[in-house]
Amino acid sequence: MKQIFLCAINNILSGTCKEDCKFCTQSVRYHADIERYNYKDISDIVSEAKLAKKHGALGYCLVTAGKGLDDKKVDFVARAAQAIKSEVEGLNLIACNGTATKEQLTYLKNHGIDSYNHNLETSERYYADICQTHAWSERYSTCENVRSVGLTLCTGGIFGMGETSEDRDELLKSIASLSPESTPLNFYHPNPALPIKTRNIELEEAITIITKARTLLGEEKLLMVAGGRELLFNGQENRMFEAGANAIVIGDYLTTAGLEPNKDRDMLEALGYEVATSCDTH
Ligand code: SF4
Repeated sequence: MKQIFLCAINNILSGTCKEDCKFCTQSVRYHADIERYNYKDISDIVSEAKLAKKHGALGYCLVTAGKGLDDKKVDFVARAAQAIKSEVEGLNLIACNGTATKEQLTYLKNHGIDSYNHNLETSERYYADICQTHAWSERYSTCENVRSVGLTLCTGGIFGMGETSEDRDELLKSIASLSPESTPLNFYHPNPALPIKTRNIELEEAITIITKARTLLGEEKLLMVAGGRELLFNGQENRMFEAGANAIVIGDYLTTAGLEPNKDRDMLEALGYEVATSCDTH
């Protein structure tokens, strides 16, 4: 029976970013109506990790808003990781904190982080249309840094932000060139406050993207349908798994609500899938 891997996200520092990514509600430039807060209490983060584990999550992602890591953030993420590792067994801890140097990544690795997530977001060509405050090449370099310090790499992107089908193919090729262990595919969720007003992707195109990603990345890798799943696949989740996805995000996303984790578990059971209990995909 095919196993599906579950991953949960904790937004541990929300909505305070000065960058201008046109798809992101966490940028302070667009005044999106989201919750904004500084560092969460570590005890709350640990409690939320325990709950995610109870719901079947194997991956647990600690996300901070902002372009990249600084000394304070590295220290905080490391302390949160250590606290979770000492109280919750069997969670693969992923940090998602923007651009990062090898030194910063090594520090996180030495304090309990297993993987680092940094998405390429879109093709190199289209990136300047969605962000002017930093370059796509910085994103790619951070992914290379992740590989070089021996953390497992999680990198993917967002589809439906006005890019062409060539951009989608280029993005998938760039992701594959990094040989990530895990790839999240997000489908743009429009928000009226953001400059990108509509989503230019339909269900069949999303299926094509998943199929191509699975072919390019190989059978052994995690291919996750993340943000936008509820908008595109509601009631047709079987199609994304048949196309090659083998992982989903449960619970809430960064700033948008997801489904109740129990509903996702019921959906998987009804489709005949098992919830994976180990990160080993072999
Ligand atoms: S750098 Fe990250 S948090 Fe900041 S606006 Fe861009 S995507 Fe959002």
